[in-house]
Amino acid sequence: MMKLAVIGSNMIDVISYTDIIPVAGETREVKDFAINCGGKGANQAIAAAKLGADVLMLTTIGDDVFGKMVLENFNAYQVDTKYVRTAKGSSNGIATILVDESSQNRILINKGANTYLTAVDVEAAATDLQQCALCILQLEIELNTVYAAIEFANKHQIPVLLNPAPAIADLDLDMACKCDFFVPNETELNIITGLPVESEAEIKKAALTLVDRGLKNVIVTMGSRGSLWVNKEHCEHVPAYAVQAVDTTGAGDAFIGCFAAVYVKTKDILQAIQQATLFAALSVTKTGTQGSYPTKQEFTLALD
Ligand code: ATP
Repeated sequence: MMKLAVIGSNMIDVISYTDIIPVAGETREVKDFAINCGGKGANQAIAAAKLGADVLMLTTIGDDVFGKMVLENFNAYQVDTKYVRTAKGSSNGIATILVDESSQNRILINKGANTYLTAVDVEAAATDLQQCALCILQLEIELNTVYAAIEFANKHQIPVLLNPAPAIADLDLDMACKCDFFVPNETELNIITGLPVESEAEIKKAALTLVDRGLKNVIVTMGSRGSLWVNKEHCEHVPAYAVQAVDTTGAGDAFIGCFAAVYVKTKDILQAIQQATLFAALSVTKTGTQGSYPTKQEFTLALD
């Protein structure tokens, strides 16, 4: 089986569901509360693993109870944790999330142990990384580590998928050109290109500027509007499925994890996007992030 590598973040999501967000100095009792495993890298790894992909995870966990929880979670989904390293003395990455009555999120992130994932970790995993058919990266770890991983993958001819999230305006586009797939959502596309992204025509124009700049495949996820794939030869809009969305958190990560799992098996970009669109649509019909991702059985049933 072709192996996938995810070099990225993990977080523990500490979520409070409240009718009203407290103002400064106010204390409120919440309606509901949950602690879940999250973080873009981990979500993408779990999404792919749920579909049966063989996933190698490179991440740094806290030297605390949350770090142990993250490790157990990877193990529960058969993710290869050989390179999940405990950053001695550090706390795990934590996302403190407030969800209000209209399902709007307010999120505070402490990257914690994620800041300790470095180029040395990438080099330490060299032998196993060279067996991988795709390497997935996001921007919740140090930018220098992301760039080092891209350089490493290029040197060893490992295809790279870069999810530029959370977006930064000064992302090195020469680095992005070294990636086979660049997968932003509309907001990230706007921050990176500085161009408007209200209409689908504007999104297409902005994505095409990146292709003109030398990026190979740009896949823009657009929530309920689906996604747009552009490269030098193709411009393909894949519409979203019409579903009753209850919680879209982590839909982008679901899309990327499934895309990668299908792509390494088929090498068919359009098929991978189409299946990712279904997988992500199923995920928004349930609350939560990793817990909302369908199982392989549920996904196979929905595909038929
Ligand atoms: P997040 O940051 O919450 O992970 P995102 O903004 O990165 O999400 P989106 O563009 O919102 O990612 O969603 C990714 C994909 O999920 C979309 O391209 C689409 O296929 C699917 N999707 C998202 N929202 C919906 C929805 N309301 N109905 C159907 N499909 C959806």
